Amino acid sequence: MDTSASTVPQPLAHPFLKGQKALVTGANSGIGKATAIGLGRVGADVVVNYVAGRDAAEEVVREIESFGVRAYAHEADVSQEDQVVDMVSRMVKEFGTIDVMVANAGLQRDAPITDMTMAQWQKVLDVNLNGQFLCAREATKEFMRRGVVPEVSRSAGKIICMSSVHQIIPWAGHVNYASSKGGVQMLMATLAQELAPHRIRVNAVAPGAIRTPINRSAWDTPEAEAELLRLVPYRRVGDPDDIANVVAALASDFFDYVVGTTIYVDGGMTLFPGFATGG
Ligand code: NAP
Repeated sequence: MDTSASTVPQPLAHPFLKGQKALVTGANSGIGKATAIGLGRVGADVVVNYVAGRDAAEEVVREIESFGVRAYAHEADVSQEDQVVDMVSRMVKEFGTIDVMVANAGLQRDAPITDMTMAQWQKVLDVNLNGQFLCAREATKEFMRRGVVPEVSRSAGKIICMSSVHQIIPWAGHVNYASSKGGVQMLMATLAQELAPHRIRVNAVAPGAIRTPINRSAWDTPEAEAELLRLVPYRRVGDPDDIANVVAALASDFFDYVVGTTIYVDGGMTLFPGFATGG
């Protein structure tokens, strides 16, 4: 079987998010980059958030602008309240509003529990969980202020939380990361329940193993990739576009009745592959 990376088909050139304004955090790399470009490809204007890599963010902006939509890069650390507040308020000034918040930024600081420092624990929770809380809160204020604009979307706004299969799969040596994603699951579900009456849709996407810098050591040698694929029934490592396509669909009115759901995009990683041959 060919387990090499595939070219993920792109959505038809239909601008189904035309007129919508999207913000993607951590959009200068990996999944966030593919998502920001993917949203631009289907017609959204996009804010490309980054924290360190300005050049990479500017490149993403140029690629999005090539679709004839607007984009700009915005530096902000999603774990810092004032920076998230400023980021969303600038977006409202420049683009008029926000329709889609993709809370994607995330990182790992791995260590066995006995070696894990408080700083490693705190950093991951600050970025992966607190950052999503702040982004969701600031977007929600604008969604509620503006309400539904029927010509733009049936909903008053969409929040898409980038979670992980590790919101349900325990992960030894990564207790900070797995705890942060478990928290994202409940953040998403609780906000979905709280905000649905306001016609705000909150959902999550939970990637499995996607080929990005965050997990390079898991796929960058044939041996590592073979080991990884034992955990993936579909027998290929995911590409960032696999996630971007799902985010674009989820942000659209095709998914208007999808509320409080996590979509696993994982090649079957959550299907307990260890039980495939018995149990
Ligand atoms: P990545 O390529 O390392 O990208 C991470 C992004 O997060 C970068 O753009 C980085 O910006 C940004 N970021 C880090 N700290 C930030 C902060 N404090 N404020 C704002 N942005 C910050 O990793 P990725 O694989 O695309 O990960 C994206 C998301 O997908 C994460 O939430 C991750 O947990 C999730 N995920 C990934 C996988 C996978 O297999 N790759 C699987 C499950 C879930 P700078 O470059 O500027 O630092």
